[in-house]
Amino acid sequence: GIMAAVAEQVVADLREKCATPASLLRDVASAMAGEMSAGLEEEGGSKVKMLLSYVDKLPTGREEGLFYGLDLGGTNFRVLKVQLGGTKKRVVDCESREVTIPPHLMSGTSSELFGFIASELAEFVADEEEESTDLLNGKKRELGFTFSFPVRQTSVASGTLVKWTKAFSIDDAVGKDVVAELQTAMEKQGLDMHVAALINDAVGTLAGARYYDEDVVAGIIFGTGTNAAYVEKANAIPKWEENLPNSGDMVINMEWGNFFSCHLPVTEFDQELDKESLNPGEQIYEKLISGMYLGEIVRRVLLKMSLQSGIFGDNDHCKLNKQFHLRTPHISTMHHDETPDLKIVSEKLHEILGITDTSLETRKMVVEICDIVARRAARLAAAGVAGILLKLDRNGSVDNQRSVIAIDGGLFEHYTKFSECLESTLDELLGVEVSKSVTVKHANDGSGIGAALIAASQSR
Ligand code: ADP
Ligand code: MG
Repeated sequence: GIMAAVAEQVVADLREKCATPASLLRDVASAMAGEMSAGLEEEGGSKVKMLLSYVDKLPTGREEGLFYGLDLGGTNFRVLKVQLGGTKKRVVDCESREVTIPPHLMSGTSSELFGFIASELAEFVADEEEESTDLLNGKKRELGFTFSFPVRQTSVASGTLVKWTKAFSIDDAVGKDVVAELQTAMEKQGLDMHVAALINDAVGTLAGARYYDEDVVAGIIFGTGTNAAYVEKANAIPKWEENLPNSGDMVINMEWGNFFSCHLPVTEFDQELDKESLNPGEQIYEKLISGMYLGEIVRRVLLKMSLQSGIFGDNDHCKLNKQFHLRTPHISTMHHDETPDLKIVSEKLHEILGITDTSLETRKMVVEICDIVARRAARLAAAGVAGILLKLDRNGSVDNQRSVIAIDGGLFEHYTKFSECLESTLDELLGVEVSKSVTVKHANDGSGIGAALIAASQSR
């Protein structure tokens, strides 16, 4: 009927505007590599900040002792301790606890957030007091802190918050040293710990994977947000003014979520999402790719389709009107529905959006919208990875040099069609020969353990 035809037109327009042919992705990859160089050249030289992490030595496997990690991402918060047994034994024991960050803390005050973190940590430490006291052997507890927001580091264990991203906006924390904030909160809890390293999840993923494999060159996150870190030659960083580190290497925290290029296929839906976001004009690449936003993009398309075509009938649309109501795990579930009549799509539409009585034809359109949005995200993500390889000169066949890209984050881990599409697109961009030497590895839980490992390599 006419309704379906109008709805089909919305889908067709979306498909066209979200198209990511290989030629476009190659332009995106080149732009990413170019922005990387510009960001290394001078402070503020690019929207991609290319922040120095001050991590100049990555874990080798030889680390020994008991170390702690804290991981504050966009949604979850984790505390962990890891007992390292050196090259032969590696990770002897690892215990962790995860909690969801109470939403009200994401827009409260700095002392509330860090107070919460310190109290969770104190509780965790108290629970295992006895056994670890023996292992510590009189030494102070060493902690690595994974804080996944843009930080301008002043050393490996200090740095000021540049801005919030994802769903966080705690004004009084911007410009403050996050380690000092944490240290103050820990003192209030009577917790005697030393913060040996401040990193983010991308650096942590790189470190966690490097601990097991020397050929890991980059750590990338596709979770609530997205970011990447990689190992750069210190003498290839013109903006670095201090003495070169002994290792000759420096881990760069790209903050690639803020990447922008005119080649990015930005639609009206993305523009409106951005305009109404907590950080308009910023993190445009992240808003096209990451878990916080994919569901919201789909919601906006469904809303337009519904308003123009009336295809969802006379259902009450108040839920489809609500920002961020449709979340990425929901679209993932619908996208992976393999039932012949798309029963799961029907259930989800009902459960989440209050939409009932959809035709199979309509449900197929919903799946296609999920597919268009997720595929665009995965292909743009692959172009970013190709950009890093291009910058590292590892995009051509070089005497069988192996390059491993470690990837973590809830989106990559759980959204199978996203991760599969990312990997196949990377192969498509690299070509048969080069892709033989490039491996994408899912580095599960690297970010928390990575902080503890960097704390260990610092205290060596
Ligand atoms: P953080 O970014 O807070 O460290 P994670 O890496 O665990 O957190 O990623 C969480 C994000 O992963 C969620 O915001 C969500 O967008 C995405 N995600 C989680 N589960 C799924 C799922 N089943 N399908 C698709 N995306 C998911
Ligand atoms: Mg995380």
